[in-house]
Amino acid sequence: MKELIVSLHDVSPLTRPVFTAMLEELAALGVERTSLLVIPDHHHRGHMLADVGFCRWLEELAGKGHELVVHGYYHQRPARPHETWRQRGVTRVYTLGEGEFYDLPKNEAFRRLAQAKEDFARLDAPAPLGFIAPAWLLGGEARRAVFEAGFRYTTYLTGIQDLRAPASVGFIPARSLVYSCRNHWRRAVSLGWNARLFSRLKDHATMRLSLHPPDYQHPRIWQQVRRLVGEALRERRPVTYREGQALPLAWPEPG
Ligand SMILES: [Zn+2]
Repeated sequence: MKELIVSLHDVSPLTRPVFTAMLEELAALGVERTSLLVIPDHHHRGHMLADVGFCRWLEELAGKGHELVVHGYYHQRPARPHETWRQRGVTRVYTLGEGEFYDLPKNEAFRRLAQAKEDFARLDAPAPLGFIAPAWLLGGEARRAVFEAGFRYTTYLTGIQDLRAPASVGFIPARSLVYSCRNHWRRAVSLGWNARLFSRLKDHATMRLSLHPPDYQHPRIWQQVRRLVGEALRERRPVTYREGQALPLAWPEPG
């Protein structure tokens, strides 16, 4: 059967209320498992391990079949002096300074990834197998660090990357539905774009839907999300990245 992967981006103590509501509605629609992209210390505004209620909530969700995925460490990229035009464009305009892993040197990327692994090991939940960079911006050095830190897969806007395989064969094309809510015209464009992409993806084995907190706060966006999810579930089963068929081998528990 074809599959639908719903991923919730930017899960942290700061966004827990909106995701609690979102998860309830998704479950009512039939999506009872999602991939949760968790930020360990969202904008340096409170580490997840300092919030016991948040940790229990994550553990409970993992117990119900949701997948925990590491999503950056701070989800923030400080502006640097002497940036090239391209660096400024990509990281500020496109991501509003959230592209934490876009150009991190390998050592620093590795340090944050290792810290994240340690943090997640404190939870009573399966160790994350996936690392997904904020805004899907993963630079070359950071990507090597993700592999060396022992993560098995990452994703981009355009597909899923099995990190155990060579880049050329490990990439599974699967463009994600995703909304941009920053202003009125972006929302309008997003609605049209996602409706068309949804039709184009009809025959694909794996459909991905990536949701962010603002999607829930804009009624027309959320209405479309609900409609597309309902339609997709007529012929797809909801899965997480970890259990989906796109990543071809069943993942053994890391030792
Ligand atoms: Zn994010």
